[in-house]
Amino acid sequence: MNRDLPVPASALAIGAHPDDTDFWCSATLAKWAEEGCVVHHLVCTDGSKGTWDAEADLAELVATRQVEQRAAAKALGATGEVVFLGWPDGELSDGLRQRWQVAYWIRRLRPDVVLGHDPWKRYRLHPDHRHAGFLTVDGIVAARDPHFFPEQEIAPHRPSALLLFEADEPDHVEVVDETHVARKVDALEAHRSQFRSTMHIDEDDPARETQLEAFRTKIRNRLAEAGTLAGALYAEPFKSLTDL
Ligand SMILES: [Zn+2]
Repeated sequence: MNRDLPVPASALAIGAHPDDTDFWCSATLAKWAEEGCVVHHLVCTDGSKGTWDAEADLAELVATRQVEQRAAAKALGATGEVVFLGWPDGELSDGLRQRWQVAYWIRRLRPDVVLGHDPWKRYRLHPDHRHAGFLTVDGIVAARDPHFFPEQEIAPHRPSALLLFEADEPDHVEVVDETHVARKVDALEAHRSQFRSTMHIDEDDPARETQLEAFRTKIRNRLAEAGTLAGALYAEPFKSLTDL
């Protein structure tokens, strides 16, 4: 198990939905931000399926989720861009148009490290996570080579490392401390619209506080479990690719 990349000058976390990067890599982003790394976020879909309320105003939900993702980035100490590609939730594909966009943002933001969903995770159901993973990998290949999408008229850019989260075969951990864990929890709690459907917290339930505490414990336990891979208290696990 490899441990801790050198702190990059800039990083770009690519998630399928608002909240994905907060679940999978935000303690690492908080650690790097604290060390002066400029942390950017790219969210592929609009998050418009993220409610159990059949009557919900979906345009309002999309707007709310953008506000929440920006607040989450701020909670981590991220100072970079928060970009929304806005593809309909549940309908993301890894076609050329989407790849064009991801390559464009990689070239424009010029991150040293890119983080994204592992597209090769077996038995995963959600298509957006799979497609966002392929877009991350394919976007890097396009961004690094001048003959891909030359009409973008931006210099090619080759990141030095790719960290895949929700990895099928993790081989790398980023060790984090209590502060980074707390920032991760804050970032996750910025996604209030997701409390009920994703985090099992019902705002109207008298047991709300207990549910919130159970959620925090679950996140902390997950980080502690990854920590054992590195003999540390807390960590986030990844598959690392450094020959890009
Ligand atoms: Zn997601």
